[in-house]
Amino acid sequence: MRVLGIETSCDETGVAIYDTDQGLLADALYSQIAMHAEFGGVVPELASRDHTRKLLPLIQQVMDEAQLKAADIDAITYTAGPGLVGALMVGASTAHGLAKAWGVPVLGVHHMEGHLLAPMLEDDAPEFPFVALLVSGGHTQLVAVRGLGEYELLGESVDDAAGEAFDKAAKMLELPYPGGPQVAKLAEQGDPRRYRFPRPMTDRPGLDFSFSGLKTHTMVTLKKAKAADDLDEQHCADIARAFEEAVVDTLVIKCRRALDQTGLKRLVVAGGVSANTRLRERLSHELTKRNARAYYPRGRFCTDNGAMIAYVGAQRLNAGEQDTGPMKAVPRWPLDSLAAPSTAQD
Ligand code: ATP
Ligand code: MG
Ligand code: FE
Repeated sequence: MRVLGIETSCDETGVAIYDTDQGLLADALYSQIAMHAEFGGVVPELASRDHTRKLLPLIQQVMDEAQLKAADIDAITYTAGPGLVGALMVGASTAHGLAKAWGVPVLGVHHMEGHLLAPMLEDDAPEFPFVALLVSGGHTQLVAVRGLGEYELLGESVDDAAGEAFDKAAKMLELPYPGGPQVAKLAEQGDPRRYRFPRPMTDRPGLDFSFSGLKTHTMVTLKKAKAADDLDEQHCADIARAFEEAVVDTLVIKCRRALDQTGLKRLVVAGGVSANTRLRERLSHELTKRNARAYYPRGRFCTDNGAMIAYVGAQRLNAGEQDTGPMKAVPRWPLDSLAAPSTAQD
């Protein structure tokens, strides 16, 4: 089965073609980051408008790349949520329109299920069951994954997501949006011994996270340095380093706990923050100690992309799922409300 996947939940237009026999045939991405950077964050109205401009040309591009015609596509899948409603509607209406025109089934899928299963696109894909750490711009969750659609939420952030905390710290450090990679780059020059920032919610049992206190701590530290007229490049780097160490350490501690609690030996790390080098280094060190291992998507599939949506859609379409009603655009949609395909009801 050859499936065209469409992702438009936020500020990336992603399109891909996944073949259940041959794997990924083509993928293309257009990022709106440069446009939103001017405003310091994603402007929803501009995001929707830009998706409408870019989506059809990107679909044409992947079809050309894979040397396929409309008749070669067996089904279409799109991100139905969670995300920005206007942005989601662009992908959803295009998917439903094309499906109607081409006479093929169409299915709306969950964006975070896409992130969660993105490592399945790699040669060395993890087997079920595993623990997944989803760390992105809007989510920080630990999930026990027993199969497609069998997700038990073990813990999540009670306030900011890890990626959001990175983006906010970047803003305070006057770094451009999106800040995650920028903070990480600056932190490389930082001295880890200068500050020790708190590791929120690690001193009590449980698998929930909280990152908003860390954001405040960063702001207070910066203000003090500014007031003392002592905020040069090195000092900023030291603060970025302390912030990154605190986020990474917190994530590592909770992953360790989740593996202990479930007795599982495989950890999938996905979502934008999974691209963070220090997080990967620390996790690989910790997991080796306990005879466990981590699985990641390739670099460009850590953040939003069409490939992960094409993959997840293909699994579910192949199992017989499809939209029976109108297009779906669901801005808020909990991951653990999903079901395995055989038991799922549309
Ligand atoms: P969600 O998937 O929760 O809806 P999203 O789609 O906006 O949110 P992603 O595209 O998966 O999130 O990831 C983007 C986030 O990842 C941003 O917050 C960005 O700062 C962060 N990020 C990307 N690279 C890195 C990095 N190297 N270190 C830390 N954070 C990073
Ligand atoms: Mg994004
Ligand atoms: Fe995402």
